[in-house]
Amino acid sequence: MKIGFIGLGNMGGPMAANLAKAGHDVTGFDAADVTIEGVTPANSAEEAAQGAEVVITMLPNGQILRSVADQVVPVMDKGAVLLDCSTVDVDSARAVAEQAQAAGLSALDAPVSGGVGGAQNGTLTFMVGGDEAGFDTARDLFDIMGQKAVHCGPSGNGQAAKICNNMILGATMIVTCEAFALADKLGLDRQAMFDVVSTSSGQSWSMNTYCPAPGVGPTSPADNGYQPGFAAELMLKDLRLAQEAASSADADTPIGEAAMKLYAQFVEEEDGNGRDFSAMLPRFEKRVRG
Ligand code: NAD
Repeated sequence: MKIGFIGLGNMGGPMAANLAKAGHDVTGFDAADVTIEGVTPANSAEEAAQGAEVVITMLPNGQILRSVADQVVPVMDKGAVLLDCSTVDVDSARAVAEQAQAAGLSALDAPVSGGVGGAQNGTLTFMVGGDEAGFDTARDLFDIMGQKAVHCGPSGNGQAAKICNNMILGATMIVTCEAFALADKLGLDRQAMFDVVSTSSGQSWSMNTYCPAPGVGPTSPADNGYQPGFAAELMLKDLRLAQEAASSADADTPIGEAAMKLYAQFVEEEDGNGRDFSAMLPRFEKRVRG
């Protein structure tokens, strides 16, 4: 397949490399000067998009996605697919999809979970919104870049699934960390705490798979000085998107809002920036009630 790939950063770079390695003809563009093995460099987003059957974008936010869509939609062939894998606000995802459809294109919003490791190893999970035909065209590409793609319904629903998932993740990570800090103060051994909770009704991905306590449970960023992993500032981005969506849909999400405020404080006023999002545990360890 002839593919245009725009946004070759930490995620987009290895995703584009995996598509090229699998034999696809990939032309890439990034605003910063980057070269990716096997990917033909283009001088502009338009150049990368011209003649492509699928144009993939992996960009920082909805505003940048909208400006790149303004560049590429007019030059894309009718029937081609615009496949956005960035995490952006639901409104931007739906606006870009409408713009693409009005130009005779298929549009998919397909944010991912799995992080940089998942992008490198081709084990991402894609949450996909958009039409069935576009999903069918992109299916082979999802198989190369990831291990699972779930079609969640019409445009914007991929982003909706992503922010709901990450709102649960942020909140469960916080409560798992505060529970460990409470257990410490109650004299409960961390290993005992893990052994009980990971097999009881308090279990979650945050406890069982990504345990925030060093030396306890499976190997996680806690065992590597809280190097990300999934950085606290990226969690903050997703929690803010969840609150934006909750506000525009008039949904009451008090725990999601509290999680967003706590990560904002951690990243913007404390030492959370650049640390894994599970570094909430050493944060709570140092604190007292009040
Ligand atoms: P990144 O900052 O490493 O990459 C973004 C790239 O886009 C950069 O290389 C930048 O130069 C390029 N870019 C910016 N504006 C551009 C423009 N107008 N035209 C062309 N290129 C442009 O970010 P990332 O970590 O690769 O994340 C990309 C997206 O994936 C984000 O939406 C992020 O929320 C999401 N995401 C990231 C992770 C993660 O662990 N890093 C996990 C899941 C989802």
